[in-house]
Amino acid sequence: MASIFTKIVNGEIPSWKVAEDENYYAFLDINPLAEGHTLVIPKKETDYIFDIEDKEYEGLWAFARKVAIGIKAVVPCERIGIAVIGLEVAHAHIHLVPLKTIYDIDFRKPKLKLKPEEFSGIAARISSAIK
Ligand code: AMP
Repeated sequence: MASIFTKIVNGEIPSWKVAEDENYYAFLDINPLAEGHTLVIPKKETDYIFDIEDKEYEGLWAFARKVAIGIKAVVPCERIGIAVIGLEVAHAHIHLVPLKTIYDIDFRKPKLKLKPEEFSGIAARISSAIK
């Protein structure tokens, strides 16, 4: 069965998209640790990130870097932190989390509750900053 993220890529489930190219897709995490928390995925579904073949794996990180630079340009933060967990969704993804303190990337903390218009506003700002 297709993963929830494949359904997002296929437009069967909505997402707040921030960037897309032929092979990769980036969208806001629906339970953000910080404003601008973004997930970057390969469109091709692979569960475990370290099972992705070399070329696609390298492309994923290059795409994530572009997205992270865009987030950093518009979200007030010290830097963008990275986490790869994958215990919840079996479709490889990189978490990009704007950091002011280390606590901002503590996955045990309560998630932000944002309104749809806040999600869409953040996504639009990040999207416009990605080169
Ligand atoms: P993990 O697999 O542990 O890295 O966590 C999966 C992440 O995906 C969590 O941070 C969820 O909030 C996020 N997530 C799950 N479903 C969606 C969705 N439909 N749209 C955006 N983010 C999602």
